[in-house]
Amino acid sequence: MEQINSIRLASDLQSDSIVDGPGLRTVIWTQGCPHKCKGCQNPQTWDSNGGGEVPLEMVYEAIDELE
Ligand code: SF4
Repeated sequence: MEQINSIRLASDLQSDSIVDGPGLRTVIWTQGCPHKCKGCQNPQTWDSNGGGEVPLEMVYEAIDELE
């Protein structure tokens, strides 16, 4: 199995969302979606070549810093 070391993000982590579930949420905006749902609120995230690729370690560190 191939090990994944990076992730493609549409934007920076958001630590204070109040609209993505109950309570205060941290949101990781991933980039690349093949579903093309009618009414999608974030069609700019569909392109799997869009956004920016970052090492997973950076994402883990950013989450740790939120605690
Ligand atoms: S709503 Fe948008 S981002 Fe979510 S699965 Fe559907 S097309 Fe993808």
